[in-house]
Amino acid sequence: MLLRLKFDSRVVKKPVISSVTLKTSALINIIKAEVGPRKGELIVEVEDSMTEKVEEAFREFGVSVCRLKKKVQRSDECVHCGACISMCPVEAICIAEDGRVEFMDNCVLCGNCVKVCPVKALSIPV
Ligand code: SF4
Ligand code: SF4
Repeated sequence: MLLRLKFDSRVVKKPVISSVTLKTSALINIIKAEVGPRKGELIVEVEDSMTEKVEEAFREFGVSVCRLKKKVQRSDECVHCGACISMCPVEAICIAEDGRVEFMDNCVLCGNCVKVCPVKALSIPV
């Protein structure tokens, strides 16, 4: 399960990930991290069986948690240029037999492809 974690200045300096790992014994894989002095946002992956326990532990630390079930969204503006393919860390973008670019379900919503698309065809679902 992918989780989006958001936290503010009260939490940003605390060792939240390691504390939740110790408390729950869950393996937490950080997919994306944007952390500044006043706020932070992480996307993490946890085993499905540990999701509820991990969510509860993060919330106890004052972290806002939401589950991500969707993949990156693409609009009709896509021109199938392929610029996004090499940016994907999990090979979730490929070229189909007809030459069109396809997105697969193993997307982990890292956002790398969104940044490079020349026609702004991609977005992360909220
Ligand atoms: S959001 Fe990240 S994981 Fe998903 S398709 Fe784009 S580059 Fe790949
Ligand atoms: S970079 Fe944008 S336009 Fe090019 S294939 Fe990817 S989504 Fe389509």
